[in-house]
Amino acid sequence: MSSEQTHPSDPVWAKLDELLPELEQLYTDIHAHPELSMQETRTADAVAGQLRTAGYEVTTGVGKTGVVGILRNGEGPTVMLRADMDALPIKEATGAAYASTVEATDAEGQTVPVMHACGHDMHVTWLIGAIRLFAQAKSAWRGTVMAVFQPGEEIAEGAQAMIDDGLFDRFPKPDVILGQHVMPGPAGVIGGRTGVITSAADSLQIRLFGSGAHGSMPQASIDPVVMAAATVMRLQTIVSREVAAAESAVVTVGALQAGSAANVIPDEAVIKLNVRTFDENTRQRVLGAIERIVNAEAKASGAPKKPEITPLDRYDLVVNDAEASQQVVTAFRRYFAGDRIQETGPAPASEDFGSFGAQWHAPSVFWFVGGIDPEAYAKAKKEGRSNEIPTNHSPHFLPVIHPTLEAGVEAMVIAARAWLTA
Ligand code: ZN
Ligand code: ZN
Repeated sequence: MSSEQTHPSDPVWAKLDELLPELEQLYTDIHAHPELSMQETRTADAVAGQLRTAGYEVTTGVGKTGVVGILRNGEGPTVMLRADMDALPIKEATGAAYASTVEATDAEGQTVPVMHACGHDMHVTWLIGAIRLFAQAKSAWRGTVMAVFQPGEEIAEGAQAMIDDGLFDRFPKPDVILGQHVMPGPAGVIGGRTGVITSAADSLQIRLFGSGAHGSMPQASIDPVVMAAATVMRLQTIVSREVAAAESAVVTVGALQAGSAANVIPDEAVIKLNVRTFDENTRQRVLGAIERIVNAEAKASGAPKKPEITPLDRYDLVVNDAEASQQVVTAFRRYFAGDRIQETGPAPASEDFGSFGAQWHAPSVFWFVGGIDPEAYAKAKKEGRSNEIPTNHSPHFLPVIHPTLEAGVEAMVIAARAWLTA
């Protein structure tokens, strides 16, 4: 299970055990001080300090709070390693000694609780562990390590912000881009697949226009409440009637707002919905169906104005390059015991990691690392209670520090070294 058994003399691993207490401290500190998307200044400072101490060339403020660290070590491939830094507006309920009590002001000016409920604190710590190990064993590899700490993953803004801020012009083009995410699964177990690894996601806001009136005189109104209700019901038929059995999609209406009094018919209704797809054709089909249904329902109601459909955010599919994935899996299998590497299906989660590879035209590979206590996980599974295990974005989500921490550091280093050979 540990590096010593498989690579007794590899200098890259010489300092891992020594580094772990320091990484644990860094992790609990970041966990206790979460920051909202695009506000990650404290985390970025900590990351920049770590990179500088380890001897990396550091550029801060890339895409607002993003940080890039470069370590050149002779001729060889450039490997980009990515971690995301942001937390979520969730009130932590884990009861951990290092739980967050932080509140912050969100983009709308509201005071909200903040929590690392998606494990990005773990991602930052993994990458710091990896950059430290590369820095202390330069004789064991050749090439360039490019560490990218990105802001704003949770709002699909950070990767694009770094790209728009000249990431591709200011830094060397990587031969491969690697990223990883902590997920509910036995701690230390690594899951991945070739091809699509996370879904595309589209969030839309739809404003339906009616015509208000007194509640006692429906004949004088065009009721947006009924229009919205019919629209929501009809939207359910997209997945059930328009998506083929072998394909899959999710259409979730997460918000439906209209009116405020029992006896007043309001002027308009607002629907916010989220779409997940695993294939571009399916995505286009679902988005087309939404537009068609929304417009047709408004017309059926005699709406005075066409509905207004506004995209809120968008995540592209994350697709693991076939050849690069094979290279990563081969390296993992050589290092980790067989039962620690598992092939997963595509996850109905979304990530902006894919933007880097897709827009830079570089192969990328993304994988998952389990973070749940293995005994608790096995017990829950045996008792048919797997769905009770807190998932990412739950106020109860809390990875066990060990062996999640070392597993992610090891996985990142091993994957990178499939390119960075001496
Ligand atoms: Zn998340
Ligand atoms: Zn995440």
